[in-house]
Amino acid sequence: MFLKNILALIQQYSTVIIHRHVRPDPDAIGSQVGLKELVKHSFPDKEVYAVGEEEASLSFLAKMDIISDEQYEGALVVVCDTANRERISDQRFTLGDKIIKIDHHPNVDEYGDIQWVDTKASSTSEMIYELYTSSENNRFTLTDDVARLLYAGIVGDTGRFLYPSTTEKTFKAAAELITHHFDRSVIYDNLYSMQHNLVKLKGYIYQQFYIDDTGMAYVKLTKELLRQYGIDPNETSQLVSTLGDVKGIVAWVVFVEEEKSIRVRLRSKGPSINELATKYNGGGHPMASGATVITWEEADQVIADLQMIVEAYEA
Ligand code: AMP
Repeated sequence: MFLKNILALIQQYSTVIIHRHVRPDPDAIGSQVGLKELVKHSFPDKEVYAVGEEEASLSFLAKMDIISDEQYEGALVVVCDTANRERISDQRFTLGDKIIKIDHHPNVDEYGDIQWVDTKASSTSEMIYELYTSSENNRFTLTDDVARLLYAGIVGDTGRFLYPSTTEKTFKAAAELITHHFDRSVIYDNLYSMQHNLVKLKGYIYQQFYIDDTGMAYVKLTKELLRQYGIDPNETSQLVSTLGDVKGIVAWVVFVEEEKSIRVRLRSKGPSINELATKYNGGGHPMASGATVITWEEADQVIADLQMIVEAYEA
């Protein structure tokens, strides 16, 4: 039903503007620009744009479009991979005529005229692939570039098909996508090869993380430390899953100090941690969430809360 309505709206509008969340990850860009290219190639007469801030580490995937406020007039806006309005990159999304939300995070903020939210999907890129397969009479053309973008998004959000969110559907989509012509090794190199300084910081994390006897772990990456290693806070995204390899860890948090706040990156292998993230002005998935605190005292409060969650958890 959602899919039919979404397809009908896309066909109806001559301008489609696609948004995604701030601080984009591969799934945000993959689903956003994957959808853009899918629509653009299938309906060459339409104006289709992908907007939001640039993320240098993902520019190998795609570049964003710069558009004026006037271009929103009478446009269809699609927001990919973004649970709440606050986190939409480029707040002009409200200027359009209609809004469609396509997302796989818990639906904490019900925005949009049509909401297609599937928390069982591994990624929003997998959902865009489903949108493509659901279109009758092959109205959509899936180009090599669309396949590359959606594949990168799926790879990013499943940790290379590792996380439990990876399903039979995910593998089927990936199997179909790799029949297209694109270089997978370019994607892997761009997403996973690390500069020396990042590898050294990874070493620091392994050396310095704290774990208690319940399996709650954390590490604090202060501004000074990041400066010392020559690393931008955004680059730490490659390191958050690092502690997942350590035996005995049930849930963990990586604190990344930015200029004026501390980013809280929560991960779990058992208990849900997204409610904890919500308590600290964040959100996300049950097993991977994020939030922001201002002081290290608040960070310690997050640790205490996580400790209670892990303690109460029975596998
Ligand atoms: P991160 O640790 O930033 O990689 O985030 C993990 C997950 O939590 C991702 O799915 C994000 O979309 C989500 N997330 C991170 N930060 C926030 C936030 N401030 N508000 C809502 N969701 C967030």
